[in-house]
Amino acid sequence: MDTELMTKQQPPNVPRSDLREWLAHLEATGRLAVLREGVALKHRLAAVAKRLDGHQASYFPDAGGTGMPVVSGFMSRRSWIAEAMGVPESDMLAHFRKAADSPLPWREVQAAQAPCQQEVVRGADVLKLLPVPTHSEHDNGPYITAGLVIARNPVTGVQNVSINRIQVHSGTRMAILMLPRHLLAFYKEAESRNQVLEVAVVIGVDPLTLLASQAIAPIDYDELGIAGALHGVPLPVVKCQTNEVRVPANSEIVIEGRLLPGVREPEGPFGEFPKYYSARERREVIEVDAITHRHNPIFHTIVPAEMEHLLLGSIPREATLLAHLQRSFPNVLDVHLSIGGVGRYHLFVKLRKTHEGQPKNVICAAFGAHYDIKQVIVVDDDVEVHDPKQVEWAVATRFQADRDLVVIAGAQGSVLDPSTTVGQDYPDGGAPPAHLQGLSAKMGLDATRPVAYHEHVFTKVRVPGEADVDLRQEVRSEARIDWRTGGVKA
Ligand code: MN
Repeated sequence: MDTELMTKQQPPNVPRSDLREWLAHLEATGRLAVLREGVALKHRLAAVAKRLDGHQASYFPDAGGTGMPVVSGFMSRRSWIAEAMGVPESDMLAHFRKAADSPLPWREVQAAQAPCQQEVVRGADVLKLLPVPTHSEHDNGPYITAGLVIARNPVTGVQNVSINRIQVHSGTRMAILMLPRHLLAFYKEAESRNQVLEVAVVIGVDPLTLLASQAIAPIDYDELGIAGALHGVPLPVVKCQTNEVRVPANSEIVIEGRLLPGVREPEGPFGEFPKYYSARERREVIEVDAITHRHNPIFHTIVPAEMEHLLLGSIPREATLLAHLQRSFPNVLDVHLSIGGVGRYHLFVKLRKTHEGQPKNVICAAFGAHYDIKQVIVVDDDVEVHDPKQVEWAVATRFQADRDLVVIAGAQGSVLDPSTTVGQDYPDGGAPPAHLQGLSAKMGLDATRPVAYHEHVFTKVRVPGEADVDLRQEVRSEARIDWRTGGVKA
């Protein structure tokens, strides 16, 4: 493995060519908590990781007594993700978009050069070998939540990468949720020919490959190419031991298997990103053939609905939404999917408004960009969209509900939003049929000030020079003046 070469070509001080380099960087900067050994996999591990979420990544040695460590929460702040990309936070979306627009095809290495195949276990028992946690209260057992599922299009051979929740049922069988995107399209194609779909579930990758897996890219657009572009060098990949899928060579653990045609097994309930449970339903099944891993591998788990989960989804989406809006409105300056809106449902848009009414056009365009978007708030360019307090201030002082509110009834929304099914009553007591799920209203708020206004009616108050104050110069730790007397100290 020519990691030395890769390191030399990377920008300095951004160690992220694999998970271990990034963890070492977090440790060196006080952001890695090493927990006590043997923490229980059921609930306890997720409970501890959740408490540290957004503050420190957590590393659990000998998790659940399996002998293998689990890591969580190493991408749980926007600033950490920008740091991994090697750009200021304000450039993060543009940088991601550039990588998505100009991917670097991967470079294949031999098995002997691939750390992820240092050890090969055929016919492995997933639950005996790997520390798979059970996260939330009503989860129906252990789940792999940070597995990059890689498969090849049966027609074109182009790979796809996505993160799917996977319930491990037994040693070699796992049920998987596939939302209606690329992996499901590949599976449907294979299933229509009564063929298996070869897959790899990759656990423990570097931060940029993890992020690239969440790009909203077209079908037949390999997300590992975006990972390469983010790294600035083609990603080294290796062919799986038991199938044709190519996986990141520097990853920690790879589960090789096949999605079976015509097989469904129950999966769920499982606590998802909106902080609610998805119901138990019959899902597609992966039969495991082998597990390959590094020497002393590290297992990654994402605690559902916490910062790592929300940010990994929201940042690539923000990049896509910004690009989408800017095609029609070049004066859209920035966007943010708020954490309170679970990183998916509530979009804040910063606009340099030139015409009255324009924010309502922007609102309509945003609803069309992704069905998950339920609420859009448009603000002016003096409002920081990444700060929910400032957005609320704009709504409080620049929005009037009778003229600035847009409501669209009965549109397609997120099926994971439980409020979309309220009031629907079905005789079997179960969920409505799939084609009726996720019916949602959309709400848009124009919280911009008028283009023209009298004097300082809509001028935000500011104190000149505030931003330039250097407090180290102004605050005296060894004050010369005694505040009690106003005189010079004795
Ligand atoms: Mn894709």
